[in-house]
Amino acid sequence: MPELPEVETVRRGLNKLIVGLKIKQVSSDNPRSFPNSENDVRLFLVGASIKAVRRRAKVLMIDLSTNYTLVIHLKMTGQLVFVSHHSDRSASSASHADAPHTGATVESGRSNDGLVESTAAKNMSQGVMVGGVAPTFTDIPKDDERKVGANRPAGPASTETDVQRDEQKNATVSANETRFGAGHPNDSLIGKLPDKSTRVKINFSDEANLFFNDQRKFGWMKLMPTAEVSNIDFMRKVGPEPLESNFSPEQFQQRFLRRARTTIKAALLDQTVIAGIGNIYADESLWMSQVHPSRLVGSITDKEFDSLYHSVRDVMSLSIEKGGSTDRNYVDAEGKRGSYMDFANVFRREGQACSRCGNEIIKTRVAGRGTHICPICQVL
Ligand SMILES: [Zn+2]
Repeated sequence: MPELPEVETVRRGLNKLIVGLKIKQVSSDNPRSFPNSENDVRLFLVGASIKAVRRRAKVLMIDLSTNYTLVIHLKMTGQLVFVSHHSDRSASSASHADAPHTGATVESGRSNDGLVESTAAKNMSQGVMVGGVAPTFTDIPKDDERKVGANRPAGPASTETDVQRDEQKNATVSANETRFGAGHPNDSLIGKLPDKSTRVKINFSDEANLFFNDQRKFGWMKLMPTAEVSNIDFMRKVGPEPLESNFSPEQFQQRFLRRARTTIKAALLDQTVIAGIGNIYADESLWMSQVHPSRLVGSITDKEFDSLYHSVRDVMSLSIEKGGSTDRNYVDAEGKRGSYMDFANVFRREGQACSRCGNEIIKTRVAGRGTHICPICQVL
């Protein structure tokens, strides 16, 4: 499931690409994915311009000039892919020899649009993605194409066949295209669109398209008056954003103390306490602060709360910087290039040595979730 950092990656990418664009046409194939009536679409969506792309927890909001907002939840397998064939968006040198299987991809001939990081190619060789943004493939040394494939399907699956197959698949994608996709990392991020996972297609007046793809159809896109968005049940209940600059350590501690009798891990995962902390970030933050996940919130000291506050923010910031962390299921199935997971200290590292004390990391179960700890650094 795309976590907060992946959703933030989507927001940042779209905010650079679609603000100011005017919607010309909208089509959808599934009322569950897009429940609005044709009338709503005609009145409030078609003809509207994009004003801003916002995020709250894992919910994306595309604000429109009609004072309506498209509210989007990617859920398990949702992704948003922007594709533009505009000649002024691409340089003729752009090529699509391959494309990354990650939570975020950008393909563009432009090198000065802020989306393509000049250091990306360098970092690619370390399996690291910069800012959740992949470089153009023209930036990547030929040798690295194999490395990209190496992170693909589970195990040592970087075969010539994989590379060749991907090259063929991408041959269907035009050379003069700007492409940004993020969310669930699968082939729809890089292949020809629409495809069978496409639920909604938004066509802009400059002929660029935004595709909402969702294999499993749990995600949704809803059009509603902007003023009503904050009244959605979820929005009223969800806790503060951990990365907001005005979110203080004192507030952090106060939010948690409402759950004094629960375990700290359960409280971290409780979206009404604080927004957007998934299982990975809970385990990583607790390890960083040397707090055992089964400790009751009421037993956590002021000093530990302060440390946890900083750990949560550090872990989430780093993950956003790396373009998020994809769930292992996706990694096994599709592979990926670099993500926060490469930097994780305990999450899915059971059996490996703790980078702080050298003892073995173990996997246990807390708050009904698989939980990774160092039993020496994190004592009950
Ligand atoms: Zn340790």
